[in-house]
Amino acid sequence: MNNEQTNNKDKNQSEVAQSQNATSESFGGEVKSIGKHEAASVKPSNSEFPPPSVDAVPIPAPAPLQGDSGFPQPTMPPQETQKIPQPAMPPQSQQPTFQGSTKKESQFKAGISGAATKIKNMPIKTKIIASGGLLAAIVVIVAILFATHVLCFHDWEEATCYEPKTCTICGQTEGDPLGHYVEEWTTDVEPTCSKTGSEHGNCVRCGLEINREIPLAEHTPGEWKVTEEYTITSTGTVVPGTQTQYCSVCGAEMDTKSYTIELTMSQENALQRAASYLDTMSFSYSGLIDQLEFEGYSTEDATFAVDHCGADWNEQAAKKAQDYLDFMSFSRSGLIDQLMFEGFTREQAEYGVAAVGY
Ligand SMILES: [Zn+2]
Ligand SMILES: [Zn+2]
Ligand SMILES: [Zn+2]
Repeated sequence: MNNEQTNNKDKNQSEVAQSQNATSESFGGEVKSIGKHEAASVKPSNSEFPPPSVDAVPIPAPAPLQGDSGFPQPTMPPQETQKIPQPAMPPQSQQPTFQGSTKKESQFKAGISGAATKIKNMPIKTKIIASGGLLAAIVVIVAILFATHVLCFHDWEEATCYEPKTCTICGQTEGDPLGHYVEEWTTDVEPTCSKTGSEHGNCVRCGLEINREIPLAEHTPGEWKVTEEYTITSTGTVVPGTQTQYCSVCGAEMDTKSYTIELTMSQENALQRAASYLDTMSFSYSGLIDQLEFEGYSTEDATFAVDHCGADWNEQAAKKAQDYLDFMSFSRSGLIDQLMFEGFTREQAEYGVAAVGY
């Protein structure tokens, strides 16, 4: 085979040489004799060997191109290269954890675990190639997530009076602004119970001067005063009255309460006695006290009873005047004198005589 090739090659070279220069000396007769019949025809006839016939030199059929005369047969790529590396993730437990769980991230995770399963079923060499591709894909995706601030290793800047705690990278905030904080206040106007005061101070964080109102001061409790007297019925029942407390500074009403008294037995009996007298007779204020004292009640109990018996002393004077006129005749002045003797005041007596016609 080698010989045939060499011959073949020589023949080709001699053809080239003939076309360039038919008389070239660089080729021997032998070569020519082997080469072509044209060359053989010019061969000297004294040669021991008959000129080889062209047919004697077997010209091999062109061999399939190989070696230096051809290109390397393209070998098919290994079967595995036809498979495109699929992104895959390490097993679930080794997956990196990402902040948040947006839809985008869930899809990303699902894609990664699907790819991981595919890689698991591949040959080892393919696995290495696929894993490399996967790693690159993960790096790119993570880089995109960081670049778009879906993921962020927050760099927090502390909250201020005006701004909440804020990430300097992605701008995310946490909590509320702190607001101003004044440690020492200086009073400008003292408050009273009727007028608010004011004070100022500087914020310990930003230095801003803050002014604020001081609320009204408390009222100063003063005395209790009776605003509605208790009353006592003619049968001795006490109806409570009302007392009110006022601020001693501004006079504002602060509190009210009802008040009442407990009657002693003699007070209660004196009251009942006074009432029964008034049902049948007429009395002046002092006349009724005298009558109760006469019955044995102390001056205090008698006075207490007459004070609370509810009588209208003008009406009593009028009644008394009529009693006298029913019994005997009186001049106007005589009747007034008589009523004043009974204990009525002049005004009550004059009211009484006028009421009966004088
Ligand atoms: Zn951030
Ligand atoms: Zn501040
Ligand atoms: Zn007050």
